[in-house]
Amino acid sequence: MKPPLYPFIRKALEERKQNEQFRRLASSETDGVYVTRSGRRLINFSSNDYLGLASDPDVRQASVAHTKKYGTGSGASRLVTGTGEYHLRVEEKLASALGTEAALIFNSGYQANTTLIPALADRNTLILSDKLNHNSLLQGAYLSRGKLQRYRHNDLRHLESMLSKSAGKHDRILIITESVFSMDGDRACIPSIITLAQTYGALLMIDEAHALGVLGERGMGLSAGKEGVDLIMGTFGKSFGSFGAFAACSNEMRDYLINYCPGFIYTTSLPPGVIGAADKSLDKILVMDADRETLAHRAGFLRAELNKAGYSTLKSDCQIIPVLTGSEENAVSLSAHLENRGIFAIAIRPPTVGKNGSRIRITLSVKHTQDHIDQLIKAFTTWHER
Ligand SMILES: *Cc1c(COP(=O)(O)O)cnc(C)c1O
Repeated sequence: MKPPLYPFIRKALEERKQNEQFRRLASSETDGVYVTRSGRRLINFSSNDYLGLASDPDVRQASVAHTKKYGTGSGASRLVTGTGEYHLRVEEKLASALGTEAALIFNSGYQANTTLIPALADRNTLILSDKLNHNSLLQGAYLSRGKLQRYRHNDLRHLESMLSKSAGKHDRILIITESVFSMDGDRACIPSIITLAQTYGALLMIDEAHALGVLGERGMGLSAGKEGVDLIMGTFGKSFGSFGAFAACSNEMRDYLINYCPGFIYTTSLPPGVIGAADKSLDKILVMDADRETLAHRAGFLRAELNKAGYSTLKSDCQIIPVLTGSEENAVSLSAHLENRGIFAIAIRPPTVGKNGSRIRITLSVKHTQDHIDQLIKAFTTWHER
C-alpha cells in the first residue's frame, strides 16, 4: 500500500474525529429568517444578518443597479484603477456617520484585521488584546511580530496592570478590543478603555463587527463620535447584509494605511454590486431606531425566559445570546433537539470557545417574530438533559 503523503494532515484530522470535533460543510439556502438544510426549512437563529438587510428589496435593487452601471468587477487594486466613485462615496458617508475624519474600505473583516494590526504594530510594539477577541485580531497580532499580551476578558484592572508594568519598555503600545463580543454578546467599557489608552499613551483599535447597525446612536456602534479611538473597524458582512469591511480613522491614519497597509494595497478592490448594497444599507441603518428598539426588547425577553428556565446566558446584553450547556455533548444534543423542533441554532464548542464554554449561540434578527421566539423558548424548556 502507498504510504500516506501527508501524515501530519491525516493525524490532525484523526484527532478531530476522535474528539468528535471534526467540522464539515453543509449547504444552506437562506430566505429571510429561514434556512433550508437537507431539505428542511428551519427558523434561523444563527445568522448575523441582524436587521434582515441581506434580503431587503431596496438593498438588492441598489446592488443590481451598481452592477448594471459599473459592471461585475472593479478590475484592479485601489491604487491602480480600482477606486470607483462608489467606493469614495461610501467612505465619505461612513466617516460622517461615525464622526471620524475619514474611512477606508477593506475586502473583509478578517482580511482587514490581519493587515491593519501589522500596519499599526511592529516587533517593538506591545499589543494588549482582550482574551476573547476574534481570531482575526489574534492572527493580525501574530503577523505583526509585536509582543502580544492578552488581558482577562473585560478585566480593565488586568489591562491597567499590564500597561503600568510596560511603561517605558516599548516604542509603542496598541490596545485592541471588540465593542460587543461575538461569542458572549457582552460589551466592553469603551470610555474606561479610552481613558487608559490616553493615560498610558497607547493606540486604541476597536472592532465593531457586532455592534454596528444594532447599538449606539443611529446604530453606529459604541465608539462612534468618541475622542481617543484611533481606529474603528467595522464589517459589511453582518448587519449590513453585504460583504467587506472598513477602517474609520483620521485623515493622516488613512493616508498611512493607503501607503503602508499591504492588505489594502495588494488586492483587487470590492466589486460595485457589493458596495452598492453596503451603501444602501448604511442609509437604511441610520434611520432604523425603531427596529433596534424592537430587537433589544425581544432579546431582553428571550434572555429573561431562558434564565427562568435555568439556563445561563452569561453577561449577554444584546442580540447575541449564548446559552450555556456545560459539556460539548450537551451542546450537540441540544442543537439536535432544537433542529427536531424546526429551529436552527448552532452548537459552539472548543476550540472556538474554552473547555467548559460549550453553548448554543442564538442570534436574533429584527425579522424574527414573537411567534418564532416563543417556539424557541418552548424548544429550550422541553429539553430534558439539563
Ligand atoms: C465576523 C467578525 C470579523 C470578520 O469579519 P468578516 O467580514 O466576516 O470577515 C472580525 N471581527 C469580529 C469581531 C467578527 O465577529
